[in-house]
Amino acid sequence: MLLYHASKHLIAQAHFRDIPRRLLSMSLTSPEAFSVEKHVAIAAVRRACLVTSTVFNQLVRDRTDTLKKEDDSPVTVGDYAAQAVINTVLRNAFPEDPIVGEEGADALRQGSNTKLRERVVSLATNALREDLIDGEKAQWGLGSQHEHSSEALLKAIDEGNDTGGPNKRMWTVDPIDGTKGFLRGGQYAVCLSLIVNSQVVLGVIGCPNIQIHPASPDEEKGCIFVAVRGQGAFQNTLSGTSAIKLPFFSSEKSYVLQSEESKHTNIPLIRRVSDELHLTEWGMDSQAKYCCLARGEGAVYLRMPAPTIGGKQPYEERIWDHAPGSILIEEAGGKITDSEGAPLQFGLGRGMGENHGFVATVDEELHARVVSAIKRAQLAEDPKKTNPTL
Ligand code: AMP
Ligand code: MG
Repeated sequence: MLLYHASKHLIAQAHFRDIPRRLLSMSLTSPEAFSVEKHVAIAAVRRACLVTSTVFNQLVRDRTDTLKKEDDSPVTVGDYAAQAVINTVLRNAFPEDPIVGEEGADALRQGSNTKLRERVVSLATNALREDLIDGEKAQWGLGSQHEHSSEALLKAIDEGNDTGGPNKRMWTVDPIDGTKGFLRGGQYAVCLSLIVNSQVVLGVIGCPNIQIHPASPDEEKGCIFVAVRGQGAFQNTLSGTSAIKLPFFSSEKSYVLQSEESKHTNIPLIRRVSDELHLTEWGMDSQAKYCCLARGEGAVYLRMPAPTIGGKQPYEERIWDHAPGSILIEEAGGKITDSEGAPLQFGLGRGMGENHGFVATVDEELHARVVSAIKRAQLAEDPKKTNPTL
């Protein structure tokens, strides 16, 4: 069955390379396009969310489970275990597809991290071995008949080391986007996307801490957001029920969603834009911002490069941090570009190139107003930089 599945997939890849562009775009938007990929991605993200929720409930206050990465962001046992789950599912379903993932398993292999490694293996194994639900298949490595050795799971984590680039079909994985939000019990997201020839064609985002109904914050939490190119964007519950087409909500206030981390964005500049457009600022961690925007809770998601000090290079954004969110916005009928109105680049490699920020809205007319308000805010902030004649 696995062989059958893999050969079908290889045929699909050959298909992409050989057929004319006009037909390729038709196949991308046919109602059946990426149906298997969608179900695989939902299964992978849902099971990764089981891991992250378990970790939060059992271990998150135990800070010995947190390692420091070079970039200083906290990496938890949940991060590794969630990536092990997602990559195991992808490897079983689509053995040939490259994966661009955030984590590597080097730290887990160190002798001093035996306890951490054992926890990662146990969490990932439990999530993969849970009983199948509707839409899931055993050949994706799921269910109790599969064993998962420690080495196989570490190898799966390392499978996420692809360099990205144009003219290929590849997955992006961010096992816990917004680790800081995760650690403080706020918003975080388990994010997966499929990119074909630099275009995002599928995005799945699991948000265990987003309430199902925006107007009822005390009700059940846990959503999974799904978008396929040409097929719309939907919110499901993490338990697998009730697909709602996005957007489905209209907020009374006009919110501008922005990063909760002051080092990740230019807060004073966003404040100028918000003041001009009478928007209310709403800080939130992770790609949950894209999800809230897509369902109608916010008006704008604005992310601007944080000012750099002492000649430091500006941060280069990563494809796994924006690919799933961007297709969700577009398929909800919205628009996303950089802050100058140019399309986002998903075919440059693991990074997205020179950082001009991000503007996402569900309302196209508002998008144009935000882009021009940014220009005025930049001029007010630094007249010399934006206008070299001054
Ligand atoms: P957010 O919660 O929206 O700030 O997004 C979290 C993501 O920001 C993380 O997954 C990081 O990949 C990314 N990130 C880390 N450092 C920076 C930075 N200096 N500027 C912008 N984004 C960053
Ligand atoms: Mg991230």
